[in-house]
Amino acid sequence: MRTLIKASNIGKSYKQGKEKTFVLRHVNLSLPGIGFVGIQGKSGSGKSTLLNLLAGLETPSEGRVYFAGDDLGEMKGKRRSRFHSSDTSFVFQHYNLIEDQDVLFNVSLPLLMAGEKTRKTKEKVRKSLIKFGLDGFESRLVSTLSGGEKQRVALARALVNDPLCVFADEPTGALDEGNAKTVMEALKEASKERLVLVVSHNVKLLEEYADQIIEISDGKMASPPPKLKTVRPIEIQPRPRGSGSWRHRFLLRNLGKDWGKNLMAFSSGVIGFVCLILCFGFFHGSPLALKEESERTLGYPMARLSQRTVTEVPNSPLSLIQEERPSRESAASLLDGIPYLSIENDYSFFLPPASLFHLDGEEAGSSSFSPVYDITLEEWGSSLLIEGRKPKKNDLQNVLVNESFAKEHQDCLGKTIEFPVHVDLISDGAEDEIDWDFKARIAGVVEEFSFLSVPTVYYSHQGLEAFLKEINLPRISMKRGRNINPVSLCEEAPGDACYASYGLLIFAHKEEAARQLYSLMEQGNIQEPFALDSSAFRIASSFQSLSSAFRLALALFVFIALAGLALILGMASYSSFVSRIKEGAILLVLGAKESHLRALFCEEGMLVNFLASGFALAASPFAISAVNRLLAAQFGISSLIRFPFASYLGIPYLLVLGVLLAALLIGYSAVAIPLLIHRRIPIAKELRDE
Ligand code: ADP
Ligand code: MG
Repeated sequence: MRTLIKASNIGKSYKQGKEKTFVLRHVNLSLPGIGFVGIQGKSGSGKSTLLNLLAGLETPSEGRVYFAGDDLGEMKGKRRSRFHSSDTSFVFQHYNLIEDQDVLFNVSLPLLMAGEKTRKTKEKVRKSLIKFGLDGFESRLVSTLSGGEKQRVALARALVNDPLCVFADEPTGALDEGNAKTVMEALKEASKERLVLVVSHNVKLLEEYADQIIEISDGKMASPPPKLKTVRPIEIQPRPRGSGSWRHRFLLRNLGKDWGKNLMAFSSGVIGFVCLILCFGFFHGSPLALKEESERTLGYPMARLSQRTVTEVPNSPLSLIQEERPSRESAASLLDGIPYLSIENDYSFFLPPASLFHLDGEEAGSSSFSPVYDITLEEWGSSLLIEGRKPKKNDLQNVLVNESFAKEHQDCLGKTIEFPVHVDLISDGAEDEIDWDFKARIAGVVEEFSFLSVPTVYYSHQGLEAFLKEINLPRISMKRGRNINPVSLCEEAPGDACYASYGLLIFAHKEEAARQLYSLMEQGNIQEPFALDSSAFRIASSFQSLSSAFRLALALFVFIALAGLALILGMASYSSFVSRIKEGAILLVLGAKESHLRALFCEEGMLVNFLASGFALAASPFAISAVNRLLAAQFGISSLIRFPFASYLGIPYLLVLGVLLAALLIGYSAVAIPLLIHRRIPIAKELRDE
């Protein structure tokens, strides 16, 4: 192969309004090898356009450019990167160096792009710097150099990788005469081993140095194409794979330079991820907390079993629900398999579940009255007592009240609750009246799942039963011909008798049994037409449904927070990308892959987000405990938010890793998607010297 650069009938046009105007057309060139070729012409004649087309900084509108036989239009990825970093280099009028970096790094860039090892790089850079009289300039920042020094750095950069061809567009345009001479000498020296193409409008200078001159006039080649005598064998050496290692330096620099933007993205990231963690903690923790709380009530081990008959009302959408007491046999078989249960009559008819009462003789309002199997708290709930004493016996002399009762009636401990009870009983046509005074001393206060709970007085079920057994029903006994008391009457009554229609009470004596009852209610799978129900369950499940609505809202907020985060991150990275687009163009000319350039900005977003999520993970235990304290004060439920840091679904650190991964993903997509808008960086447009 003898031709290094071949241009076959190339042209470049721009659209102006509807019309296409050609700024260069019908150019044919064949440049084989070694020498100094000048491109000369008036300003605006198309010199830069020609050079850019040959150097691959612009694509021709028609025709093709070949480099060592390869069509430039087809050069993609690694091949293109090598074309820019190793095979060719470009010297601009205004240097196009990375101004805020030192000389060493600037000159190293083509080598780093080509994947050269760092140690080799330093050596080559040193040699190149010495050649251009820049020994000792390694650590100088480019921005502190003079124009002549900058152009020598640019020359060192252009030659450090020993390219086959150097393009230079008005390399002396910004320099004084002395510096211009130095630059031209250097290019002349370089042209002894390679092809050097120099654009200049300075005819005198070109005539002094160039072996041959191409003249461009009005977008056409005015002189015959040059014929270079010396031919250099073209060998495209295999080079190390291009690498993106140069990115680290830019990544750190960008992070520091854009610290304001990044700090903002970081802060919103921390907020977003703390929100995410809190929200998940609430998802995970609230059902557990509610379950634990609902177990912490004296009503927990009790449920009511009833039988429901639903009767459709003819010609109406209404239906009647009648609740009655199921038979003991069916109750026993329904609850078969749950040990430690008592199936008891419900005496709600004889002691109403809600009553107006007097406290130490003074009218005090109303309260709910609820039976517990064992008021002495031997079998259940002794840890719930927060004030006073446990009653010693299961009788009606002593009762316990819950926290909300105690709150409503200050200093109630030791006072006497009193209210009259009057019941009319009709059975077998006989009628008896029961008149008695419920009178009991408040022995203690028990802690309770306080959210939604009402003032409640707990009395002994066994005590009430023993008391009722002592009451004589003279008329009904006479009618039946034997002694009948309310308890035996209740036992024998049909399920729909008014005094039996409340159903059966199920008491669990052990925690395990209570759990099983609870899960029966939870699954709702007790057989029709029976129904199992408890106030503790009802309170917990209403809070559950409330909290699941709440969780949905929270999930929405978190989604919005994360979307906002992605937006901020995307905007920050996009704007820093746009503000560095010229630098991007320089890096592309030095052989960076476009994908690496995008990756640089994605990495920045990912890093910021990753740090934010790490910080959020570290800070979240404090946030969780603060919010928990707030919620506990409001709802009386402790530890509603629990984030399983250590392990989830049996996998250690699953959620921690999940959050970090999500951070990387959000960081990546938030940046990658907006960058897709910029499909290509218009290199020539960014780097043109006007
Ligand atoms: P020279 O380097 O010889 O001074 P150029 O090659 O830079 O000239 O430009 C040749 C012509 O092309 C000029 O008239 C210029 O205005 C025009 N031109 C260059 N770039 C563009 C562009 N992006 N859009 C439209 N016209 C352009
Ligand atoms: Mg020009």
